[in-house]
Order: sequence, then C-alpha cells, then structure tokens
Amino acid sequence: MSGMYLDVDLCVIGAGSGGLSVAAGAAQLGASTVLIERHKMGGDCLNTGCVPSKALLAAAKAARGWRSAQAFGVSYAPPRVDFAAVNRHVDEVIAAIAPNDSVERFESLGVKVIKGTGRFVGPREVMVDGTRIRARSFVIATGSSAAVPPIPGLERVPYYTNETMFENTGLPRHLIIIGGGPIGLEMAQAHQSLGSAVTVLEAAQVLPKDDAELAQLLRQHLIEQGIAIRERVNIVRVEREGSGVVVALEAKDGREERIVGSHLLVAAGRRPNTAGLDLEKAGISYGPKGITVDARLRTSNRRVFAIGDVAGGTQFTHVAGYHAGIVIRNALFRLPAKVDYSSLPWVTFTDPELAHVGLTEEQARATHGDDITILRWPYHENDRAQTERTTYGLVKVVTTNSGKILGASILGAHAGELIQVWALAISQGLNIKAMAGMIAPYPTLGEINKRAAGAFFTPKLFSNGTKRLVRFLANFG
Ligand SMILES: Cc1cc2nc3c(=O)[nH]c(=O)nc-3n(C[C@H](O)[C@H](O)[C@H](O)COP(=O)(O)OP(=O)(O)OC[C@H]3O[C@@H](n4cnc5c(N)ncnc54)[C@H](O)[C@@H]3O)c2cc1C
Repeated sequence: MSGMYLDVDLCVIGAGSGGLSVAAGAAQLGASTVLIERHKMGGDCLNTGCVPSKALLAAAKAARGWRSAQAFGVSYAPPRVDFAAVNRHVDEVIAAIAPNDSVERFESLGVKVIKGTGRFVGPREVMVDGTRIRARSFVIATGSSAAVPPIPGLERVPYYTNETMFENTGLPRHLIIIGGGPIGLEMAQAHQSLGSAVTVLEAAQVLPKDDAELAQLLRQHLIEQGIAIRERVNIVRVEREGSGVVVALEAKDGREERIVGSHLLVAAGRRPNTAGLDLEKAGISYGPKGITVDARLRTSNRRVFAIGDVAGGTQFTHVAGYHAGIVIRNALFRLPAKVDYSSLPWVTFTDPELAHVGLTEEQARATHGDDITILRWPYHENDRAQTERTTYGLVKVVTTNSGKILGASILGAHAGELIQVWALAISQGLNIKAMAGMIAPYPTLGEINKRAAGAFFTPKLFSNGTKRLVRFLANFG
C-alpha cells in the first residue's frame, strides 16, 4: 500500500453510521469513493453502541419477564442469568448485522476501503499510512468517544466506557454509573434486570434534553424497579477499594458520603473524535464540541463536510444517516440541501421507553409564549395497554392554540414506534385535526396518539350545547 496515490471524487474518513451511508450512496451513484476506517467497520453503533446496548436490554427484558408474567396467571421460577451467555448473545447479534457494514459489502458496491488512520496533509489531501488521497470532496465522519470527566482519582481506578462495557463476561455485583443520560439509564436498567445492584450518579438531572415531566416519571419508575438514582451529586473523588471502587460524594453538611461498588461505568457525555486528523493543515475550524459546520454541513474548508457525532450536534445513528443524505445532495448533485431538525425524533430504550420529537413544552413556551396547548393521554386509558398490562406512561403533545403540532413526547411501551407518526405529522406541518381524524385499528397502542389528538377538541366540544347532550346521554342514554 505504501507510496500509493489516489485521485477520487469522494474520500470519507470513518466507516460508522454516517461514513458508511455516504460511501454507499456515493458509490451507487457512480462516484469514485474511498472509505478509510482505523478500527472496526460499523463504528460505535454496531460494535459498541446501539446494537450491543439494545441486545443487552433485550436480554434484560427476558430476565424481567417472569415477574410480569405472574399477573397474567403464568408463573415460572426466577431466572438464572448466565452473564457469559448473555455476552455471547450480544456478540451474535453484532455478528448477524456486521455483514451489512463489512469491507466485502462495500467493496462489492465499488467503494475502495482502506484500513488505517486518516489525517489531512493539506486542504485537498488526506494520508493513510503511505497512501495519499486527493479528492473533489471529503467527508469527516469520525464519530465520538466517551468523555471522561476530570474527577480526581479516576485515572487510577479501573472503569468501563461503552468501548469496554460489552466485553464484560461477568455480572457486576454493584455497578456504579457516572452519568444519567440515555446511555447511563439504559445500561442501569439492563444490569439491574440481569441481577446487578445499580447506582446512577448524575451531576444535574437525568435526561435533560427530554420533556422534564416525562423524564421525571421515567426516573420514578426506574427507582421503583430498584435502581438507585442520585441527581445533583458532586463527585469529589474516586478511589480503589479492594477489587472494587469507592465514589466519594460531597454531602449536604459538607461531609463526604462514600458509595462502594464492584464496577464503575463512565457514561458522562461524548467527546468528538477530532484528535490526530490534523484539521489545521486543511483549514478546518473546530472546537471542543466538534467540527464547525453550516446548515449544509460544510466545514470552513469548502471541499470538506463533517457529519454525525463529530459535527457536534445531536448524536444519533439516524442523525448521521440523515446527514449522509444532505452531504450527497451537496457534494455530488451540487444542491444546496440544508439540515432541518424540527422533526428529528429520538428514543431512550429503557422499559418503558421514552421518545420525543419536535419541541418540548418548555421550548414551545419559550418560542410561542401562551400560544400553546398541551394534550395528554395516559396509557391506562388504552384497552390494548390494559390487555398487555403496560399501563404506565402517557403521550404528551404540544400544539399551537390553532392546532399546529409542535412536539410530542411519549413515555410507555413501544414509545419508539408510536413517536414515528408524530415525526411524520411535524415534518408535513399537519394540524392536530389530521391525527384526531385518523382511523386507528382497535385495539392498538397507536390509538393513544389519536386520543391525545382528540383531547384538543374536548374542551370545545363540552363548552357548547353538546355538553348538555353528553350529560343527558350519560344520565339517561
Ligand atoms: C452505548 C451507546 C448506545 C447508543 N445507542 C443509540 C441508539 O439506540 N440509537 C441511536 O440512534 N444512536 C445511539 N448511539 C449513538 C450512535 O452510536 C452514534 O450517534 C453514531 O454511531 C454516530 O455515527 P458516526 O458515523 O458519527 O460515528 P461512528 O459510528 O462512531 O463512526 C466513526 C468511525 O470513524 C472511525 N475513525 C475515527 N477517526 C478516524 C480516523 N482518523 N481515520 C479513520 N477512521 C477513523 C472510528 O473508528 C469509527 O469506526 C449510541 C451510542 C452509544 C455509545
């Protein structure tokens, strides 16, 4: 490979969610494409992120199943969890998906895949080992890594991050998790359900980007399931104790509180992977949050785009995939496509799930003042939720007073599926009337969406003559 020189249409650095999507799209459109990956094809999502975390959560759900089964009149013995076998299940799931992201698949699409670390050597050139690549456009899709907070002593104790967590083959006795974001809470529930004691330590409040009301309801539910969640903690020190760890917190009276655990997981945010790219050599501006991009995802170097986690915005696989489409339109079709996050959904895959799209109530109030209407519908009012005994949660929708849908949050079973119709409604600028008028099959959880929408009309309905009719029917009908 040494001493090679390539001149191509597109050079993509990083073969994760974003880079793979751009490379596949570009190659299928006939652009000569180079894809550089220094570690595993598939990036974080496949190897150390979405896929292993959801596989672990699926095992956790199976382990919890015996408890909920009793309510249906079905009982079986408490499970015996073989954590090494759980770990094998996680590996099998990754292996089943991996061919989609493999070097072989991408080479069969016509992409030239180079294994190695890419770095800029000039505004139009990237080097990987001995290979020099000149391209019409570049895409930086190098992702992010776990941020390690500056807690005294942390560097001297063993701790997991998402990169090492899924290699663990023994069930932690007491897992302490620093960070109460989506990753921290998903891992907390997964381990607690599989048999660990779990303590989550959060400096602010859990899930700060979600609707505060629903996030607190989820927090409450996780606490009731047996997870210790501590918010607004100040960690002053971490140290080793025997084979485990001690996390020292500043208590209210100024003294220290010691939490002793067997294992520690750091899930306290993400740091963009910009180090080693020599961005300065290509005139690409960046900061601690990531590479600076405009709405077309262009960096300060007009030939270079940045997408996914490294671009410093909301960090999800579907965002990286969405970015890929924007870049293809800009770089290959020369269309001025811009990002629009107004209908971007996301989900925290705890049980119950927490899903969100559009504006939260707080954001809507900040931008629309009193011109907002809040609609709620609880899961326990839904017949299917009753049959399934998944009655915890609610749908909360924010509209303008004239019914334009601004945002929706859902806490409950299958929230990640139920949110999608709201994402479509917001992206199409629909009025709440459309959702209320939709015919939903009975009995489905999806009816909750329709009923939440219908609540928009309830006060109006009951404020006129119909109110008297309804009262009449209720009494005599
Ligand atoms: C535990 C966990 C759970 C998650 N769960 C979800 C979820 O359920 N849903 C969801 O939407 N998102 C989830 N995410 C987030 C998701 O994984 C990321 O948003 C997504 O992977 C970002 O894609 P990306 O292409 O920006 O980066 P990545 O997928 O991380 O890919 C970046 C790639 O670039 C490579 N690379 C870096 N530097 C170089 C270099 N100089 N040269 C060559 N290669 C380089 C890396 O090795 C890596 O393969 C989760 C993340 C974590 C950590």
